[in-house]
Amino acid sequence: MNTQTHVLLAAAILTRQGEPARNVAVIAGALVPDLAIYTLFVWSKIAAVPEQRVWSELYFQPPWSEAVTVGNSAPLYVLILLVALLASRWLRPATALIFFALAALLHLVTDFPVHVDDAHAHLWPFSDWRFRSPVSYWNPDHNGGVFSVLEVGLGIALSLILWRRFQAKWVRALLFLAIVAYLGPPIYFEMHTNH
Ligand SMILES: [Zn+2]
Repeated sequence: MNTQTHVLLAAAILTRQGEPARNVAVIAGALVPDLAIYTLFVWSKIAAVPEQRVWSELYFQPPWSEAVTVGNSAPLYVLILLVALLASRWLRPATALIFFALAALLHLVTDFPVHVDDAHAHLWPFSDWRFRSPVSYWNPDHNGGVFSVLEVGLGIALSLILWRRFQAKWVRALLFLAIVAYLGPPIYFEMHTNH
């Protein structure tokens, strides 16, 4: 799924009003599997690498492919979760780490059924096995069109759930932007294509 949907889903399931450390950890955990992708994007802009080359070549080559693999390793987050669970018995701040690991695992679980050619090595470093789903979250050749519509619906529903939970103006401003980001592109294309 798209990063913003991962963040909204983790936030809807795991955040709580009035617990900022836990909530920041949830958002960080939802973002971290996609961190390598954003780093590659920013670096390619600075290095003036053509976009086409970035996503058809560099993304699939080391060191970027390795960074993506590490960031999407389920055993890594299970390990962090176990360490955090043990440590939280003595160290209060380790509780935030539990939520970080849970949010990252939720990201991996929800990516699992929607990747085809770009499926991750879910069990790295133990195995290179990848589940190639019949559904891609983006590729129209693999039902990406249908899934995109579902993702817009899910994203808006999650935004509304969070809107009710958090009264802070800046949170609601971000949620409003998220809804605009979901609805903007489809409305734009609807208005600019001739049927
Ligand atoms: Zn992802």
